[in-house]
Amino acid sequence: MDVRRQPSKPVAAADSPDPKSKHSPSSLKYYVDEDPSLKVPPSLYFVNASVIFLFFTVLYYLLSRWREKIRSSSPLHVLSAPDLAALLAFAASSVYLLGFFGIEFFQSLLLRPPSDLWTDDCEEERVVSVVTEGGAQKAPCGQGLDCETPKLDFDPVKPAAPKAKPVETKKWDEPIDMTEDDEEVIASVVAGTTPSYSLESKLGDCRKATAVRREALQRTTGKSLAGLPLEGFDYESILGQCCEMPVGYVQIPVGIAGPLALDGREYSVPMATTEGCLVASTNRGCKAIAISGGASSVVLRDGMTRAPVVRFGSAKRAAELKFYLESPANFESLSSIFNSSSRFARLQSIKCAIAGKNLYLRFSCSTGDAMGMNMVSKGVQNVMDFLQNDFPDMDVMGISGNFCSDKKPAAVNWIEGRGKSVVCEAVIKGDVVRKVLKTSIEALVELNMLKNLTGSAMAGALGGFNAHASNIVSAIYIATGQDPAQNVESSHCITMMEAVNDGKDLHVSVTMPSIEVGTVGGGTQLASQSACLNLLGVKGANREAPGSNSRLLATVVAGSVLAGELSLMSALAAGQLVKSHMKYNRSNKDVSKVSS
Ligand code: ADP
Repeated sequence: MDVRRQPSKPVAAADSPDPKSKHSPSSLKYYVDEDPSLKVPPSLYFVNASVIFLFFTVLYYLLSRWREKIRSSSPLHVLSAPDLAALLAFAASSVYLLGFFGIEFFQSLLLRPPSDLWTDDCEEERVVSVVTEGGAQKAPCGQGLDCETPKLDFDPVKPAAPKAKPVETKKWDEPIDMTEDDEEVIASVVAGTTPSYSLESKLGDCRKATAVRREALQRTTGKSLAGLPLEGFDYESILGQCCEMPVGYVQIPVGIAGPLALDGREYSVPMATTEGCLVASTNRGCKAIAISGGASSVVLRDGMTRAPVVRFGSAKRAAELKFYLESPANFESLSSIFNSSSRFARLQSIKCAIAGKNLYLRFSCSTGDAMGMNMVSKGVQNVMDFLQNDFPDMDVMGISGNFCSDKKPAAVNWIEGRGKSVVCEAVIKGDVVRKVLKTSIEALVELNMLKNLTGSAMAGALGGFNAHASNIVSAIYIATGQDPAQNVESSHCITMMEAVNDGKDLHVSVTMPSIEVGTVGGGTQLASQSACLNLLGVKGANREAPGSNSRLLATVVAGSVLAGELSLMSALAAGQLVKSHMKYNRSNKDVSKVSS
């Protein structure tokens, strides 16, 4: 009879009469709301009605008696038999009604916190377990298997209906409504009276500015931008830092390679790419490295460079400045001027090159966790202003004279390094080469010599003594908010392979002299990119040891390149490249097999 204490029925699709309905989220509602076992039997209505009637009747009787006694001044505590019976009936009906209706009310208050907990982390599990497992044996969350839900010391009257997980709607996820005023602005942009670039400041709303610009663009070009998403991006976060005149954003899938076993730690490496096979292949390399005991890396050098070009009236005067800058006696004063530009910029060296009466001054400095281009440029500007006093005939032609050298293939970066110079190595066991990489040590060593060393030399390569370092570099750069254009010099890499341990194992290394990465500044602070940095444990500035986050990221880049080189070289050595590309680039098949 005590329907209140019906056991809470798990929302299990196993009870479903229709197996198909197990997979429908709406079926959940059916089982919660419509479970016949939870319905109140009709006879109970009669009992409830009688008790309610009794409650109010005796209440009326008792109140009348109370009034009578007050009027007649008779003592209240002297009770007649009918009074006593009425009091007992009142107490009994009160207890019943409180038990039936009141407890449910209190339960609804008391149960709220746990059911709200379900809507957090556990809710997804709760629904997913029912929906995806088709009522299989995985108990929904709250049943104590997969995640802990606070235990209640009583059963709820009804199973709490699984609430839809509150979708965290950020301001930038909401639809952008266009008003009549916006229509006017669109028209003025189309007519050319309002410059498109001024929309952010004119409207004071980056989302609206983007939507207006996009609409104006579609109208002027007559081309649809459907497919290029507009909503779901925080346009405020890029204002004045990452992108001007936005009209939407491009989506790039992020895959995970790893774990990459590197320097005693494991990393899940995010790779943003649309090239099939790339993540799977890197993953296979990571597997070979991990089974063989992991890779190790060393950061050889860490310094960002900037090289202004200055002109004098004669080569002699240009040479005088060169000697002045390269003299150890002047370094201290120059570095204190340079370093005053930032807490993190520390001048390391100034290397000069002369072309006639033109001088190129290559400043190199450490930049903490920033990639450092802005930082080094500010320091350089300070020094140039200072030099102008002693060399008034110096004509600064450009703060960047390409001897830096940024985003162009250049021997100076290959030889001197730029950003982080990293070497990364691993010894791959012979067994792993055969079973995971499906090739032999001899084949790999020979192919490396013929392709990465001799072949690249024949091609006149500059830093391109590798199989596909830029593939891995670019994918990680895009995922983690680096400047993808710096892939040019960041992908400089020489891959070496050698048989070791009496020919039983393979020593493989990548040497990369100019990995330009940062964990603060630029695109690194954007939500998706910073999530990828977070995954690697290098998000933001490292407060204890500034620069260690960006150096760690550089080693992860090198380690991932090592994995990518191993895997692609193995595929080539085994003659599998075309086969696997045909298989995985041209179908939607499960690529997990490639790493098995
Ligand atoms: P970049 O020099 O790579 O172009 P920014 O110009 O954005 O990047 O410089 C990085 C900014 O971050 C600077 O203003 C710097 O003061 C700040 N910053 C905070 N913490 C650090 C850190 N640990 N390392 C480097 N810069 C940091």
